[in-house]
Amino acid sequence: MQFDDNARLDTSEVQDVRGSRIPGGGATIGGGIVGLVVLVVGLVLGIGPDQLGLSSGGDQSAPASSSLARVEQACRTGQDANTKDDCRIVAVVNSVQDYWTQESARGQVAYTKASTVLFSRQVNTACGNATSEVGPFYCPGDQTVYLDLGFFDELRTKFGATGGPFAQAYVVAHEYGHHVQDLQGTLGRSQNGLTGADSASVKTELQADCYAGVWAHHATTVKDESTGRPLITSLTDADVKDGLDAAAAVGDDRIQEEFQGRVTPDTWTHGSSEQRQQWFGVGYRTGDMARCDTFR
Ligand SMILES: [Zn+2]
Repeated sequence: MQFDDNARLDTSEVQDVRGSRIPGGGATIGGGIVGLVVLVVGLVLGIGPDQLGLSSGGDQSAPASSSLARVEQACRTGQDANTKDDCRIVAVVNSVQDYWTQESARGQVAYTKASTVLFSRQVNTACGNATSEVGPFYCPGDQTVYLDLGFFDELRTKFGATGGPFAQAYVVAHEYGHHVQDLQGTLGRSQNGLTGADSASVKTELQADCYAGVWAHHATTVKDESTGRPLITSLTDADVKDGLDAAAAVGDDRIQEEFQGRVTPDTWTHGSSEQRQQWFGVGYRTGDMARCDTFR
């Protein structure tokens, strides 16, 4: 995956709160379950980023002061995205959102932009306080994607993925898929707490994988707002393979085999490795979100 060296990155779409201190304690996602049950959806589920009860409200601290916002300083051009991990995330967020904005103009979905927050260790969200352990996730309460870049190391070391820049792009695009679902009003379908290979939760996750594939299909043709040219200038078969490999690495069966030693499909929340690759592939081959009806 290569970015146009001369493109200007829009860092306003990414808030960098890495290194900021979180005031207070409070319940965390994956920790105590207090008050209202609020849905968050993520990429993986060990014990679970996704459908956990969360403390409601969670005092929403303001984003970190600008002195902490590294991406704003460091990520100016496509060249920065070609050389720095955090800047690459900015570029992918820009590309994904440019795509959905253009899709919106075609009447497929009424897209409004959503921020990504880069955090380290823990973060305050409208869905409660979360730690990095939950993996990347989307909080519908504040329509924001939350990401600790350390997850991408885990993707290789803990989940056994090959990694690579496009594996990261897949993760970001998956979370934005949840934002699209939120805007479509379908995200709540997964909120019934049921699990299993045919559950609404799995179908919701597979649709987010499919939406990630739809973006990937258009990634090298979607026009960048700053230049009018594509921000992503090349996406190779090897890149797509990294994306598919990441999708497989976070399949429920693979994770269960690895971490609990046996596969129990009735507790699946995200779908098997095969299903996740399959639906990413449907989106990637067709480039058509209408083909992502995993609920049918
Ligand atoms: Zn997800």
